Amino acid sequence: MRRTLVAGNWKMNGSLGGNAALLGAIKAGAEDVSACDLLVCSPFPYLSQCKSELAGSAVSWGAQDVSEYALGAYTGNVAASMLREFDCSYVIVGHSERRAYQGESNATIAKKALQALLVGITPIICVGESLAERQAEQTDEIVGQQLDELLQVLDMADVARIVVAYEPLWAIGTGVTATPEMAQAVHAMLRMKIAAKNAEAAKQVRIIYGGSMKPDNAAQLLAMPDIDGGLIGGASLKAEDFLAIAQAAQAVA
Ligand code: PEP
Repeated sequence: MRRTLVAGNWKMNGSLGGNAALLGAIKAGAEDVSACDLLVCSPFPYLSQCKSELAGSAVSWGAQDVSEYALGAYTGNVAASMLREFDCSYVIVGHSERRAYQGESNATIAKKALQALLVGITPIICVGESLAERQAEQTDEIVGQQLDELLQVLDMADVARIVVAYEPLWAIGTGVTATPEMAQAVHAMLRMKIAAKNAEAAKQVRIIYGGSMKPDNAAQLLAMPDIDGGLIGGASLKAEDFLAIAQAAQAVA
């Protein structure tokens, strides 16, 4: 049985004052959604605040990126062991914004995921196709390749420890959402690929959807058999919306 994961990606948003109010409201609302896992992924400087506000609550916290290196002369990077010191449970890797603006490759993203796994942090690995790729009917090929390059470097035992986030680029921050059927088809394809590597892990691994998930479309998406949660950008910045998505997840869990 896979527990639904409702994960907020704050991106480069937040302030100490605003975060305190948001975290407080999410923490309070989390008590009504015990059937799913709630997660907040904040910018690095706010991890300490997340830890102090959320420790002991049902809400986990995590980061939005991690270095592909362990420690050393990598100015500006943040090591997985440092995230561990702030009790991060998860880290997003390979978000499409990092692929686009920081030029991250599938190989780099795989190294980042390995660094997280080494210290016991669950990597949420993002995959997704552009609009042009979807229109050219290349979705399975592109998204499948993104996953394959990761599966090639993961130990069999680690496959069940990851979360995969399917995030079609054309749906991120646009207000356009994949239909539940479109998303389900890609999630099922990804699970089949994982099953080819480790059948047992494929049953356990969570594959979550991201791309303009909102309170009014979450229930239909989350009702699909291979959609195990959501990675939520814009709507995670409003406690009311984030919790409404969590309640939709709870209703179908
Ligand atoms: C995201 O940033 O991962 C995301 C899905 O954003 P949004 O929900 O705003 O589309």
